[in-house]
Amino acid sequence: MDSTFFDLPTPPRVTVLSWPTRILLGPGAVKRLPDEVQRLGLTRPLLVTDAGVVKAGLADRVMTVLGEAGIVHVLFDRVTPDPTERDVFAGLEAYQSAGCDGIVALGGGSPLDAAKLVQLLTSHPPPLSRYDDATGGDRYVTHPLPPLIAIPTTAGTGSEVSRSGVAFLQDTGRKTVVFAPALLPRAAICDPELTFGLPPRATAATGLDAFTHCLEAYLSNGFHPLADAVAIDGIRRVARSLPVVMGEPTHLQGRLDMMIAAMEGAMAFQKGLGNAHALAHALTPIAGLHHGLANAVVLPSVMAFNRSTCRARLARVALAMGEPSGAVEDVLAGIAIDRVRRLVADAGLPTRLSHAGVKEQDLPRIAELAFRDASHQGNPRPTTEADLLGIARAAL
Ligand SMILES: [Zn+2]
Repeated sequence: MDSTFFDLPTPPRVTVLSWPTRILLGPGAVKRLPDEVQRLGLTRPLLVTDAGVVKAGLADRVMTVLGEAGIVHVLFDRVTPDPTERDVFAGLEAYQSAGCDGIVALGGGSPLDAAKLVQLLTSHPPPLSRYDDATGGDRYVTHPLPPLIAIPTTAGTGSEVSRSGVAFLQDTGRKTVVFAPALLPRAAICDPELTFGLPPRATAATGLDAFTHCLEAYLSNGFHPLADAVAIDGIRRVARSLPVVMGEPTHLQGRLDMMIAAMEGAMAFQKGLGNAHALAHALTPIAGLHHGLANAVVLPSVMAFNRSTCRARLARVALAMGEPSGAVEDVLAGIAIDRVRRLVADAGLPTRLSHAGVKEQDLPRIAELAFRDASHQGNPRPTTEADLLGIARAAL
């Protein structure tokens, strides 16, 4: 039998798969928050969010829903973009001093990730670097955590259905991923109307983050056929709906589609990620790029690097993005790279690192930090630090 028969590994092996999140999905879902708070037995949740979400009026909207249901809650709105451990400790202090018994996390990736790490530290001792996924830190996540309900206000990170929290830590000197099943939110409330007011650039950058999760997971070297099916569906949704919501920000179906794709991306990346995320995790602290934007700019170069290793999968990406079948595999693989480059450009994002303000002299440091990031271990083509430098140069 052909070793690639049905895309199954040879020999077949046992793999752990899980898809457990409870998700309330659809317009108006946020009004059901009190039911979820009560179902989980919370009497005083900490609402973790950031200044942007407050300014957009979304924190008020959630506090009104809680207030009308008579639920006492405490607001912590001091999460900064790309949070550090300072944000997490400030949130922990707010949680403990107010005697909270659970968390409602509201926002994009930053508040959701910071909230999960606050949740972790309510029952686990610092430092956060102890729980670093790159050093097998999940083995220290052993105590029960208070319930967390996640309400995304972007369609990007998918943190509402993921088991990870990310923060920049002083100890490790990098964006550090904490990954543990206990960090999976007890409920996700995904209301596409909360993303209607998201500005175009944020819509584009977060949408491309969701797309990169799906694409990197689909190509990654792990074995997870369920993740593959979900990832290819997410690729299809972003390709068809990102251009729609860029043109019409209150397009309900388009925003719903993007929200589904964001969840699919995070569900899928339990399989693994790749070099785009390794580089993005270095580009944010060194060059100040938004995470989704960093992914978007380097993704075509990462795909080109991987082309020889995963032609068949890249060809299927082209088909999912709406390309007609018929061309030979390698041609379709090339088309997939062009389609992604166009998706990024049409969303109004820079397509070169130099256009995003990255300097040539920063690239060696970026490659070095990217190589220390665990994401590249999922990349389908084995990658050295020199390879990462080459990809970053190609994207400059
Ligand atoms: Zn990402």
